[in-house]
Amino acid sequence: MNIASRSKEIVVASGKGGVGKTTFTASLSVFLANKGKRIVAVDADVDAPNLSIALGKGKEKSSQEIKISHKAVLDNEKCVKCGKCVETCRYGAIFQSEGEVPVIMEMLCEGCGACTLVCPVEAIRIEEKLTGELVIEETKYGFPLVTGRLELGEHNSGHLVTSAKKIGHVKAEETGAELVVIDGAPGIGCPVIASISGASYVVAVTEPTPAAKRDLERLIRVIKHFNVPAGVIVNKAELSTAYKDKLEKWINEEIQMPIIGEIPLDYEVLRALTHMTPIIEFNPSSKAAKAILEICEKVAENI
Ligand code: SF4
Ligand code: SF4
Repeated sequence: MNIASRSKEIVVASGKGGVGKTTFTASLSVFLANKGKRIVAVDADVDAPNLSIALGKGKEKSSQEIKISHKAVLDNEKCVKCGKCVETCRYGAIFQSEGEVPVIMEMLCEGCGACTLVCPVEAIRIEEKLTGELVIEETKYGFPLVTGRLELGEHNSGHLVTSAKKIGHVKAEETGAELVVIDGAPGIGCPVIASISGASYVVAVTEPTPAAKRDLERLIRVIKHFNVPAGVIVNKAELSTAYKDKLEKWINEEIQMPIIGEIPLDYEVLRALTHMTPIIEFNPSSKAAKAILEICEKVAENI
C-alpha cells in the first residue's frame, strides 16, 4: 500500500543506528537517478535526519510545520491546588509540591485529556504542539528530497515518518517519479513500523557485531510481519571475519533472507562523508564504492 502514488517504495532500514544505512541510501538514490530513474528520496529517520548532508545539502524549496501532538496546559491563576489532576494522570506527567500549583511535565504528557475532565475549575486545557517539520529540497543530483525532522523532546515520530512518506509520494505523483527511496528510522518501534509499512522492497543494513545481529533479528520480524521482499547488506565486513561468517550462516539458515552483498571497511567512506558526497560519486573506484554499486544493481533488479 503506497500512501498517495503508484510509485514503488524502497526502504533502507537497520535495527541499529550507525551501521551505514544513510551512507547506503545516499549512494542508492544517486545510482538510481544516474540510471535515468525518476526518484524522490525521503529521510524518515526523523530523530536524526542526515540524508541531506550525505547528499551535499541541496536547495531548500519549502518547509511545513507538523502539529500532531497534544499537550495539557495549566492556567495557574485558575488552579485551586486540589491535586485531582495529579491523582488522575496515569502517565505521571503532573507533579505537585505540597500546597503549590502543580507543574505539567510536557515531555511526559500524552495529551489524553483526563486531567481536564477532573479539574473542578477548568484550569487545564489541551493545546496542539509542534511535532516537527517537513522540508523539501532539490538535491544536486536533480531529484527532490523530503526530510522529516522531529522537534526536540517530541516522541510522536511514527506520525512524522508517515507524514514524510506521504509528502514523498505526493511529490512522486507531481514529478512522475517511479520510485520513492526511503532512509528508514532505525530500531524496531513505531517509527520503523511506519517506515516499512507499504514498502515494495526493504534493504536491511547490518554489521558483524552481536548488538547489530540482535537488532537485525528484531527488524526482520517486522519485515516478515509486513511480508515485504527484502535483502540484507553486511557493512564493515572485516570488523570481525569470524563473527561475519557466523552472522551470514545465521542469516542464510535461520532467517532465510538473501544476503545481497558485503561492503568492506574503507577509509574512503569517511572521506566521502566529510565531503558530503555519496561514496559512489566521491571515489567510484574505491573498494566500498565498487561493492555498493554491485549491491545497487541487485536492488534495482529486485524492484
Ligand atoms: S493530558 Fe493526560 S497525560 Fe497529559 S497531563 Fe493530563 S492526564 Fe496527564
Ligand atoms: S485539578 Fe485543576 S484545580 Fe486541581 S490542582 Fe489540578 S489544575 Fe489545579
